Amino acid sequence: STTGAGAVTAPAPVTVLAGPTAVGKGTVSAAIRARYPEIWLSVSATTRAPRPGEIDGVHYRFVSEEEFSALIDSGQMLEWAVVHGRNKYGTPRGPVDEKVAEGRPVLLEIDLAGARQVRESLPEARFVFLAPPDWETLVDRLVGRGTEGAEERERRLATARVELAAEGEFDVTIVNDTVDRAADELARLLGVRDLT
Ligand code: 5GP
Repeated sequence: STTGAGAVTAPAPVTVLAGPTAVGKGTVSAAIRARYPEIWLSVSATTRAPRPGEIDGVHYRFVSEEEFSALIDSGQMLEWAVVHGRNKYGTPRGPVDEKVAEGRPVLLEIDLAGARQVRESLPEARFVFLAPPDWETLVDRLVGRGTEGAEERERRLATARVELAAEGEFDVTIVNDTVDRAADELARLLGVRDLT
């Protein structure tokens, strides 16, 4: 970023995409990956096991607990968090710095706790909140499968309410009405032209 009188406002080199659980951050990121290869999507390190189809180094860096701790201890994590009370996820700092130096637009898709840490460590980053079109849509996505009991459903809804209230901490809101439209809006925000 630039400061001082007469400074030109350049596009922020790092954009953080966060939002409530089940809003569709993963699908919007996947659309960005597919449609806008010039945007560099940060590859998070995680202690969770790969799902079928996930490629190490592409979707995540799959690491052991020990490797994850070593990344933190050596100061290589820009941010990290335990997500859904289970696995650890974090953004390795080195590749982000590299891509910024190359002038590539960089996108971090992380949870709210991680976004708050980036605000501390990289305040010049831009913070984008991905919002559901309305509360009902989020409820449908959270409980739609009907596999959870009433207690778990209430717990998730309570979490979603708290997470939605974080919108005010962000610079911009993008509504995830359709994935491709949200991805296009995000790409324009990163200074990348629409394909269509
Ligand atoms: P999943 O396990 O479904 O791929 O991701 C679960 C959650 O982890 C998502 O909400 C995603 O935003 C979050 N996440 C993925 N990578 C990171 C990261 O590097 N840092 C943080 N704080 N959260 C992440």
